[in-house]
Amino acid sequence: MKLTQTFIPTLREVPADAVIASHRLMFRAGMIRKLANGLFAYLPLGLRSLRKLEQIIREEMDAINAQEIKPTVVVPGEVWKESGRWEAMGDAMLRARNRLGVDLVVSPTAEEAVTALVRDDLSSYRQLPLSLYQINSKYRDEIRPRYGVMRGREFIMKDAYSYHADEESLDKTYRDMGRAYRRVFRRCGLTVIPVQADSGAMGGSGSEEFMVESEIGDNTLLLCKSCDYAANVEKASCKPDFRPPPSVEAAREASSSTPATEIIDTPSVKTIGDLCVFLKTSAKNFIKTLIYRAVNVELDLSAAPGCASLERRRPAPGAPELYPEAFFAVLIRGDLDVNEAKLAATLKAGELALAADTDVERLTGAPVGFAGPVGLTGLPIIVDQTVTAMGDAVTGALAKDQHYRHVAYGRDFTGWLVQDIRTVKDGDLCPHCGTSLYEKKGNELGHIFKLGYKYTRPMNVSYLDEHGKTQTPTMGSYGIGLDRTLASVIEEHHDENGIIWPVTLAPCHVIIVPVKYNGAVKTTADTLEKELEQLGLEVLVDDRDERPGVKFKDADLIGIPFRVVVGDKNLTASTPQVEIRRRGKVENRLVSAAAAAQELAAMLRAELAALNA
Ligand code: ATP
Ligand code: MG
Repeated sequence: MKLTQTFIPTLREVPADAVIASHRLMFRAGMIRKLANGLFAYLPLGLRSLRKLEQIIREEMDAINAQEIKPTVVVPGEVWKESGRWEAMGDAMLRARNRLGVDLVVSPTAEEAVTALVRDDLSSYRQLPLSLYQINSKYRDEIRPRYGVMRGREFIMKDAYSYHADEESLDKTYRDMGRAYRRVFRRCGLTVIPVQADSGAMGGSGSEEFMVESEIGDNTLLLCKSCDYAANVEKASCKPDFRPPPSVEAAREASSSTPATEIIDTPSVKTIGDLCVFLKTSAKNFIKTLIYRAVNVELDLSAAPGCASLERRRPAPGAPELYPEAFFAVLIRGDLDVNEAKLAATLKAGELALAADTDVERLTGAPVGFAGPVGLTGLPIIVDQTVTAMGDAVTGALAKDQHYRHVAYGRDFTGWLVQDIRTVKDGDLCPHCGTSLYEKKGNELGHIFKLGYKYTRPMNVSYLDEHGKTQTPTMGSYGIGLDRTLASVIEEHHDENGIIWPVTLAPCHVIIVPVKYNGAVKTTADTLEKELEQLGLEVLVDDRDERPGVKFKDADLIGIPFRVVVGDKNLTASTPQVEIRRRGKVENRLVSAAAAAQELAAMLRAELAALNA
């Protein structure tokens, strides 16, 4: 392949919005161009690497018996209505209506579309387990697309869906997928950290994310210094730094020597920080009470305080009933923060956020800053575990400028639900081994879920088991973002001059740089190109009429693993020679021009074998 015949528009300048290396380099190397915010086109060089990544993923999926399909990207809104996610997806989902007035969706993910496909042809347990995958475009109307293809609006995902007769079979495929993902990332030369993850809006019983460490990562990870515990902060738990009482009665007994609760005047003291100063005590002695508004709550609240007459709705015929709106009081020790992902998981809520000031006033009868559990009625109280060990605490007194002191859990208040909802932070103790945890920022490249019956039940998927009985299959879903993976590879493999591709993803294996493309140099370069191609290597020849310095800069920028410089001087030696350099290394090696192709092929094979092992 001759450079003059390709469309590889390299650039010296960097677009102003390209703040991370991969974004800058993908642009400058002519791999991608931006059409609009969050919409990127791959140019030939970028597409070559993307295709290689697709192929790696394909091989690993095929190896675990997943089968590739090609569903449509545009799908009927109807299937999203069946699952109940038509509303839950909100504005992230791009919708359209065709000329007949039919609702359409540009797929943000494809649980519904693939499940609808499978439903039509699944009849017998003999067809299970079934794993299907696609490598296809997705669209999510991200509020803030950024970092180039790391977070685009349109992006490419490998998404797989599996269907099973029982949990055991789902577990096996889930484990196989996890192993396949580890292999994919290893073959890409990426160091990934698999972490326990929250199942989020997808629902389900188990989930793992594959993260790369990154300063610009959107995720906080908690990792153990001594064992292999690793979790997304949304899911992370820790060993309590207190001894939780085994029951409400035990808590009440434990606080038998706590003085009687009394009101204290706390004029113009609103925050916990102010209170600490005012009462000369530490935040650990306060009970923070936060009022949350949750939307689409699946948890059964029929026995919860103040909820008996709440509106309930079924978003789709087979889907579980939801409360469109519900309020909760959430208690946590004053030095800790509520983990909203854990809280949402506890409540099975679609979304939640702190309630508006007016709602807080209406529900607590006091201005914001004075909520507390003593005497609080009319809404369910969710108690973080930490609060159950508080036998003598300070908390808001449901009146302006007033707090209670000597408040004890079990004696002065209880909750409707006790749960671990704290945010784990750097220095907290590992839930497995008790060693301190530390934090890292991470970027999510892949995510695997056990979904259970979340989609198959409302969408009425069924098959006949070996006894002829109708059953619903259980399901898993598994995604990898290809663009984000490619960008992450560049983040991990580059230097100040450009990309340093791992051989598995490099757009070409070898770049031949003739210092001047004429005479003996040209003949040698062309011969070498042919020889390399015959050995199955992918070759780019920089046949441009440019100074060698310009060619070297571009070769470094686009990051092709092996560079061969063909120059007059080395050709006139008794044995004509060319100069080989591995991108990323400083030393040049002179090899005989006649043996160069074999030598390069051997170098490439060795590197491929190491990565694909
Ligand atoms: P994020 O939390 O980063 O928004 P997500 O958890 O919503 O991602 P999933 O639904 O788990 O994403 O999708 C599977 C994979 O698709 C992600 O692990 C990621 O690699 C990729 N992905 C998701 N959103 C984007 C995006 N906007 N741009 C590029 N890749 C994306
Ligand atoms: Mg995810």
